[in-house]
Amino acid sequence: MSKKDDKCSFCGRGRQEVPLLMQGQTGNICNDCAEQAATIAKETFSKQTDKYQLDKQTLPKPQELKAFVDQYVIGQDDAKKNLCVAVYNHYKRLLQKNTHDDVEIEKSNIILVGATGTGKTLLARTIAKKLHVPFTIVDATVLTEAGYVGEDIESILTRLLQVADYDVKAAEKGIVFIDEIDKIARKGDNPSITRDVSGEGVQQGLLKLLEGSIVNVPPQGGRKHPDQKMIAVNTQNILFICGGAFDGIEKKIAARLNTQIVGYAAAKITHQIDKDNLLQYISPQDLKAFGLIPEIIGRLPILTYLNPLDREALRLILTEPKNSIIKQYKKLFAMDDVVLEFDKDVLDYIVDKSIEYKLGARGLRSIAEMIMVDYMYDIPSSNEHQLRIPLAIAKEKVEKGRMTPV
Ligand code: ADP
Repeated sequence: MSKKDDKCSFCGRGRQEVPLLMQGQTGNICNDCAEQAATIAKETFSKQTDKYQLDKQTLPKPQELKAFVDQYVIGQDDAKKNLCVAVYNHYKRLLQKNTHDDVEIEKSNIILVGATGTGKTLLARTIAKKLHVPFTIVDATVLTEAGYVGEDIESILTRLLQVADYDVKAAEKGIVFIDEIDKIARKGDNPSITRDVSGEGVQQGLLKLLEGSIVNVPPQGGRKHPDQKMIAVNTQNILFICGGAFDGIEKKIAARLNTQIVGYAAAKITHQIDKDNLLQYISPQDLKAFGLIPEIIGRLPILTYLNPLDREALRLILTEPKNSIIKQYKKLFAMDDVVLEFDKDVLDYIVDKSIEYKLGARGLRSIAEMIMVDYMYDIPSSNEHQLRIPLAIAKEKVEKGRMTPV
């Protein structure tokens, strides 16, 4: 066949009929077909990589969101409700941005107050999972004011960029959980005269991120240096959820409640206050008394609390969540064709020990691990297909362990 007779292998048009025909090893392609193929490939790949797409149809409503969170997080109903509403509003605001009226919905970042191990991080993580948005956890304690040893505040966004595979648009709709926000409280209620490297200065730096601005982020994190190429990230639509234990804040709450309730009905009202769980009365004033600057508090308008976990809650945490610790062990053993059963009193014992060691929900895993580690070592090499853990053995293994009450 002469060159003149060549045809596009896709559309069948001859060399004369197309502006350009490119020759391959076993076929030809014209410029039109090549262009079309490129468009199809681009669309296909962008669909695959757009794993963070969120639209009005896929945005879960608050009740739906809570029902999802309920599968993973035990109790904490107030926090769940507040969080689900805030997150829903946040993404609604973001999706309806292009409407042209005067009502502009403001961003509402969130602050969760509750003892360590009560589920603050778990709540934030679970919500992000449902929404399919980039999510990262950063620890406020590593942050310092620019120019001091530690990480620059902008590095918070580096992690978000990393989990979003450097897709800036996706990261700009993500959620950042800032843990231990209480650790950057200033040391007293009075504004500092001397420099407070890890406290007020960091809060001031954080303000910029929380309120929404364009921030230059070092792609690899750490400290910025002059030759580094920066990535500009707009934080306007990033939802910040801050969490902290705020140890001792109960005293501030109690003091406020006592001074507020004076006069005629005082005795009656103070009687109604649940003194064992003062966190439920937390208000922005208490955060200020603890040492957060008013500007930061203003940028975290949704304030909610987590309850301490009692024995009943811990017992539920052990077995009920979708990926509870006990379900995880059962799955691990099932992979070796072993059916694992725990005596009921073993589960109660794990809870009791966790309370005794004051480890909260985090302790459940460590104690269960002490009981299970030998089994996990031996069983895969044995011919057993059934394993039951009795209380006596569980006790023996925990008592042999090195844990001491804190
Ligand atoms: P916090 O952020 O409040 O310090 P985490 O969310 O990190 O606590 O909780 C630590 C672990 O304890 C979680 O990974 C989870 O296994 C368990 N946990 C804590 N609270 C709950 C809860 N309310 N429901 C289910 N699991 C919980």
